[in-house]
Amino acid sequence: MTDLLFASAHVERLAAEAALPSKFQRLLEQADLGSRLADKRVAIKMHVGGGLGYTTLHPIFVRAVVDAVKAAGGKSFLTDGSFSSEAAVARGYTPEVVGARVVGAGGEHDQYFYPRTTEVPGLPEIELCGNIVDADALIVLNHGKGHGNSGFGGAIKNIAMGCVTYRTRGRIHALMSSNFHWDEELCTHCEQCVQGCPVGAVSFSPEGKLSISDHHCRWCLHCTYTCPTQALTMEEPGEKFALFQQGMAAVVKETLACFEPAQVFYLTALLSITPLCDCWGFSTPALVPDVGILGGNDIVAMEQAALDLIKWEDLIPSAVPEQMCPLGEEGHLFQRLHGKDPYEQVRQAEAMGLGSAEYGLVEVK
Ligand code: SF4
Ligand code: SF4
Repeated sequence: MTDLLFASAHVERLAAEAALPSKFQRLLEQADLGSRLADKRVAIKMHVGGGLGYTTLHPIFVRAVVDAVKAAGGKSFLTDGSFSSEAAVARGYTPEVVGARVVGAGGEHDQYFYPRTTEVPGLPEIELCGNIVDADALIVLNHGKGHGNSGFGGAIKNIAMGCVTYRTRGRIHALMSSNFHWDEELCTHCEQCVQGCPVGAVSFSPEGKLSISDHHCRWCLHCTYTCPTQALTMEEPGEKFALFQQGMAAVVKETLACFEPAQVFYLTALLSITPLCDCWGFSTPALVPDVGILGGNDIVAMEQAALDLIKWEDLIPSAVPEQMCPLGEEGHLFQRLHGKDPYEQVRQAEAMGLGSAEYGLVEVK
């Protein structure tokens, strides 16, 4: 069992030192970064979001991480996908504000990578971003939120989708595509499937071809039930979802293999927890009150703890976009939103030997 540091967002006293930014600084002090990062070139991997999204991590926390690396004797740079530089500036992740510059993980044009292989069916080769591989140490700085494809977007998603080229990212997504079978011959284009989908996942192209968004789909089967001609059918989706999570775990494994274990540290901010990933280009209200920030050395324990701390009972119902209602009736909050069990990624990562889901919380006061 691993101990994780936890700075709660709850404020007990009306004093700056009792608020989250101060607690977060103390969390970073307790993380003993000095012994790990001295003289190291440290990649701080973020997901900087896009468009008009405003619920990514506030620069004050990013600045605290950059300062902590500096105090530890390391030299840091922020990094995300190669085409995220403008989005980073829009959110204040600039050297003037946070103290470090943003570097495209795969170089300026997403062409700088190292090939690796995996044993996951359908994902024989992946491309790890060169500027991640070349770093001496890695801080995985995550904003925890829901995610239409994986259920949850935390540390695993941040690495698996953000430390590889866009080409590899597409291949990972493809692992869970095509649960549906559409028989064009049987289809009468009545569009009952489009109207019956509660989340707007079904559409027809101008040429009359049916398309279903794996991201939006909650596997409720309304579209197949309402199809009068059985033109649309769906396979049991669990197997492909597990394969997709296995693919993500394999990428994480290859990425972490580039570093000594002591040179990797995870931070997950459970603040402004929204239903969708930050790449959507807009924000919705937070689903639950802010929880706090976790820090630790074990990615599996980090993800398990983050999910455990986001509780269905804390849901603020008015924060759920109408298009996502009604919610499912079982499982984690994100499963009720997206139909996908967010703990599957924890199970797959643990099965791949990336850590243990058992953890204890050490609260930073
Ligand atoms: S299974 Fe449900 S959510 Fe998925 S496309 Fe069909 S109606 Fe929409
Ligand atoms: S409900 Fe069935 S027949 Fe009607 S448009 Fe959809 S796939 Fe075609």
